[in-house]
Amino acid sequence: MSFSVLSLPEIEALVLAVLVENGLDPAQARAVADTVTRAEADGCRSHGLYRVPGYVAALRSGRVNPAARPSVRQVAPALISVDGDGGFAPEAVRCGTQALTDATRRNGIAAMAVGRCHHFSALWADVEPFVAAGLVVWAYVVGQNSVAPHGGTRPLMGTNPLAFGWPRPGAEPFVFDFATSATARGEVELRALAGQDIPAGWALDAAGQPTTDPAAALGGALLPFGGHKGSALSLMVELIAGPLIGELSSQAVAGLGITDGGPPPGGELFIALDPAAFGTGTTQAEDIFAAALSQPGVRLPSERRYRARARSRTAGVEVATTMLRQIGALRARA
Ligand code: NDP
Repeated sequence: MSFSVLSLPEIEALVLAVLVENGLDPAQARAVADTVTRAEADGCRSHGLYRVPGYVAALRSGRVNPAARPSVRQVAPALISVDGDGGFAPEAVRCGTQALTDATRRNGIAAMAVGRCHHFSALWADVEPFVAAGLVVWAYVVGQNSVAPHGGTRPLMGTNPLAFGWPRPGAEPFVFDFATSATARGEVELRALAGQDIPAGWALDAAGQPTTDPAAALGGALLPFGGHKGSALSLMVELIAGPLIGELSSQAVAGLGITDGGPPPGGELFIALDPAAFGTGTTQAEDIFAAALSQPGVRLPSERRYRARARSRTAGVEVATTMLRQIGALRARA
């Protein structure tokens, strides 16, 4: 496979141009270009340029509002509500970030519901601004409907990622972010394309039987990670990022029959805490991190991303030539 090296500003400019030329409002486009570029910078390729054709497809099918202007409301002293106006999630989240930060500082704890938008990106990108402001934060999103509940045989839940962020004095923050499915659906698709089996424990076939055949898995259901424990967490995400905030469940979204390959409609719930409100801060927690890292073989979540970020800021990012061609072709329509 051949590659070209692009700097991060080059990637951001490319994504911005493609989206704006496909009719997306510049503010929306800047927010999407930022999350795509950060994913490339952090070595999270499946949420980088790979997603751009999906964003464009959702614009071209007319499903996403290209002129969306999110609006932010404080609905209670510690509750923020963002109406994404049918656009993409990154701009809706960006618009609400300051309001949730302020509400958290005032109350010690606050939550933000982001609705009427389309989410396609990695959650760590959404939580990082809050952690940078010194807050502890959780984020939840309902993903694509493809996961059977523990003991069940058919998809009921989305891949339903959750992210957690914890600020650290003098160190990169502790952030983890993962789907509650045993694996990403995209990973099964990649195995199918490569003609490789998937590990046992990832999926069921259409008859509800365990399978290691990726094609059978794609016609059946993924399993939650961690058996009944991951299943309960996935259901929790389904509830709090769906009905609780007035958004669709993953099953309801699946019923819409969306086929353009772009981000599904849905919302996102944030919960934030101000450590200062407890009068303790986060310094004491450093002992826990030090003890974890004193064990050979342990690394903290996000360390891989931070290393990739430091590298790509100076060395740029290798992008497959086929990907660049595919994205370049999306500009031709302008
Ligand atoms: P991964 O399993 O790739 O990673 C999960 C987390 O575990 C990361 O924080 C990762 O840090 C950390 N980690 C990995 N290996 C280790 C290790 N050996 N020791 C300590 N920590 C480790 O995540 P998923 O495949 O489940 O999810 C990938 C992404 O997909 C997420 O960003 C998620 O938000 C996104 N997603 C988005 C959806 C949407 O609808 N918007 C739907 C579903 C998923 P590191 O990154 O440093 O390796």
